[in-house]
Amino acid sequence: MSTWNCRVCGLDYDYSPWGPQGDTPDYGTCECCGAQFGVDDYSVASSRSFRQQWLSGGTAWFYPNLKPADWQLESQLSQIPAHYR
Ligand SMILES: [Zn+2]
Repeated sequence: MSTWNCRVCGLDYDYSPWGPQGDTPDYGTCECCGAQFGVDDYSVASSRSFRQQWLSGGTAWFYPNLKPADWQLESQLSQIPAHYR
C-alpha cells in the first residue's frame, strides 16, 4: 500500500522521502522522474517546472530497470498530490 506519491510524477512509495512529519527530505532521487526530494519538489512551482522538463523530455525512468512492464503514465500522473499539480 502506498503512503506517499512523488510530487513531480506521482509514483507511489511505501514510505515518505520527506520524513514522518513531511519536513525532513532525504534528498534521495525519484526512481521514475529523477527529481531530487527536498530540491526539485521543494515547492509547487519547482515541482511543476521539473514535471514539465520530464514530460517534454520523454518521461524516461531515472532507473529504467525499475520501470514496470505495464507502466501507465496517465494513471501515475493522476496520483500526483492535488496541491502539486
Ligand atoms: Zn517522481
